[in-house]
Amino acid sequence: MASERTFVAIKPDGVQRGLVGEILARFERKGFKLIALKQLTPSRELAEKHYGVHRDRPFFSGLVDFITSGPVVVMVWEGDGVIASARRLIGATKPLEAEPGTIRGDLAVNIGRNVIHGSDGPDTALFEIDLWFESAELNVWIPSDQRWRVE
Ligand code: UDP
Ligand code: MG
Repeated sequence: MASERTFVAIKPDGVQRGLVGEILARFERKGFKLIALKQLTPSRELAEKHYGVHRDRPFFSGLVDFITSGPVVVMVWEGDGVIASARRLIGATKPLEAEPGTIRGDLAVNIGRNVIHGSDGPDTALFEIDLWFESAELNVWIPSDQRWRVE
């Protein structure tokens, strides 16, 4: 399985509810490598680009209002198969349908307050990483315990 990068964002509800550490810990414990992390309150322009694919959906303006309502914590994780694996760690979009053990399954009840975003495929991951980060913000590094992670 090839090493990949994916974009993950803790939405304003996750930040306000004090879930940042809980969520970071799940990706760290799984074994993925954090290569970028920052907190910001997104502009409307940024939020509209990020969710551009949903532009014509009825929930779009409410979603943009929500995402721009306070700080989010955005990050890039790297590792084998990280794009699909992050989506599995995150769980289904509707938190009441998300499996227990997933982030949304354990920590959320409402689709409009589902705590976290993760890229849904390779093209989306590239687009979202480029949208939220400068290339100089992506850290290339080798964990000192690398040989205990991969064969
Ligand atoms: N969303 C919503 N109402 C809906 C569908 C989606 O508020 O009926 C929000 C929800 O926060 C979701 C986001 O829009 O996480 C993006 O939707 P998508 O289908 O891409 O889900 P995701 O990729 O986040 O699981
Ligand atoms: Mg999506």
